[in-house]
Amino acid sequence: MRAKKGVLAIISGPSGSGKGTVVGKLVKEKNYALSISATTRKPRDYEVDGVHYFFRTKEEFLEMRDHGKLLEWAEFCGNFYGTPKEYVEEQLEIGKNVILEIEVQGALQVKKIYPSAVLIFLIPPTLEELGNRLVNRGTEDKETINRRICRALEEMELVDQYDYVVVNERVEEAVEDVETILRAESMKCVRNQDIQKIFKGEI
Ligand code: 5GP
Repeated sequence: MRAKKGVLAIISGPSGSGKGTVVGKLVKEKNYALSISATTRKPRDYEVDGVHYFFRTKEEFLEMRDHGKLLEWAEFCGNFYGTPKEYVEEQLEIGKNVILEIEVQGALQVKKIYPSAVLIFLIPPTLEELGNRLVNRGTEDKETINRRICRALEEMELVDQYDYVVVNERVEEAVEDVETILRAESMKCVRNQDIQKIFKGEI
C-alpha cells in the first residue's frame, strides 16, 4: 500500500494575529513539517537565513520563480515572498503534514494547484488587539505598521474563501483548534481511498 499522503495546511492571518507563535508550536509539539519561504525582505535582528526564511536578492528570487522552483509567490508590502516547491512535494509524498504560513494571494494560488489543501485563517480577537500586538513586538517602524494594518483589513475581506477561521485569543487553544481541524481532515474518506480499496479486495 502507498504511504498515505500528508495534509497540506495553509495558515494565513494578518501581521499581529500571532500566527508565527501558533505555527511554531504546531511544528514543535505536533511534528508538522514547516515550509521555509524565500523572501526579498531584509532579515529582522533575530532572524537566521535558512531557519526563518531563505533571504534572497530580488534577482535571485526572480530566478527561482522563473525556473519553476516556487509553488506560489506574492508581493507583500513591497517585498516578494514564495514557497519552494520541492520540499513541500517531498514531505507530502512521505506522508508528513506540511504547514505553509503565507498570505492570502499565495494561499489561493496553492488551493488551485492542491484543491485538497486546508486553508485556515487566524484572526486576533479584535482589531485593536492586532494594532497592540504589532506595536508591542517592536520589529517594525510606524509606517510599516500602518501599511500592515491596511493590508490586514484587505486580507480580512478574503476570509470567506478559506475553509476555517480560528480566533487566536489564547495561543494554546488556537493550537488545539488547528490540530483538531487537521486531524479531522486527515480522516476524510477522500484522503483514505486506499483503505477503502483494501476492504473491497481491490488491492
Ligand atoms: P513577514 O514579513 O511578517 O515575515 O511576512 C509578511 C507576510 O508574508 C505574512 O503574512 C506571511 O505569512 C507572508 N509570507 C511568508 N512567506 C510567504 C510565502 O512563501 N508566500 C506568500 N505568499 N506569503 C508569505
